[in-house]
Amino acid sequence: MVFLSLNYDLTHNLNDNLTIKNTAFVLLAIGGKYLTLPIIELKDVSFKYNQAERNALNQINLSINAGEWIAVIGPNGSGKSTLAKLMNGLQIPNQGQVLINQEELNHDTVWDVRRLIGMVFQNPDNQFVGATVEDDVAFGLENMGIEREEMIQRVHESLEQVRMLPHLKKEPARLSGGQKQRVAIASVLALKPGVIILDEATSMLDPLGRQELIEAIAELKQQYNLTVISITHDINEAAKADRIFVLKAGHLMYEGTPEEIFHYGEQLIDFGLDVPFAVQLMKELENRGVTVPEDYLSEEELLRWISTSYLTK
Ligand code: ADP
Ligand code: MG
Repeated sequence: MVFLSLNYDLTHNLNDNLTIKNTAFVLLAIGGKYLTLPIIELKDVSFKYNQAERNALNQINLSINAGEWIAVIGPNGSGKSTLAKLMNGLQIPNQGQVLINQEELNHDTVWDVRRLIGMVFQNPDNQFVGATVEDDVAFGLENMGIEREEMIQRVHESLEQVRMLPHLKKEPARLSGGQKQRVAIASVLALKPGVIILDEATSMLDPLGRQELIEAIAELKQQYNLTVISITHDINEAAKADRIFVLKAGHLMYEGTPEEIFHYGEQLIDFGLDVPFAVQLMKELENRGVTVPEDYLSEEELLRWISTSYLTK
């Protein structure tokens, strides 16, 4: 009973962050075990594009809890973007079910789902509608019927969150690629979604810009219990996740914590991740007969290992 009324609350107050936040922490006691409610579930989902010969996704089963940070990795064409589109109803599966807050995503629920799940794509140029940065971020809020005063506040707040407030009055076309992408992300954040899907959304940013943005999103996750799904080739971004999903040719091949996934070492390249310098260096050392640690090390950790263990041997 409690379960049902919560479910009702969530789907009818999708923009009320408080409801989402509280619900995320509601624990169900089942057989003495505590479980958090999944916010997104895929059950045996397969999908084929109309003209395609093969399925873009095959029998995907996964579950994402509210407040989790999930990284999705995999080589080009492995089905990452298709997975994202299925999660917010841009595509509907040919087989299986997508459940959002325990409710099936279908033509009737898709609009509620789009309010809950914000999506940012790789190419920011296709995402602008406003004449200025300010207008652009305000656009979605206007559509939602948000009052003017709150709208202005949300526009400022979300631009501040991505450090673009000083560019408020600029034309989007005059911004750099990285700045455009920040504005695109601000436009989604302004809608206060419960889930944000970043489909290679940080790929246009330089390493520093990328790091800054990821930190800003991590802060929001902390603050609002935002669920983050980040499709990425960047190992540092993937390392921030609670769990990583690895897609290969439309199959969910592996799932695990970054530590577990990074254990695959050299295979990470096949997983579509950019080969990090530390992994390359470890490989080179190994080729030269050095016994290196088995676990993935960040650059800093590797430097520490080299200076404390390797060089002192
Ligand atoms: P990724 O994001 O991992 O690069 P996608 O999800 O874009 O992969 O694509 C998965 C598969 O579906 C690929 O084989 C791709 O060619 C195919 N595909 C993607 N979009 C379409 C489309 N609109 N029509 C037909 N096939 C598509
Ligand atoms: Mg893609």
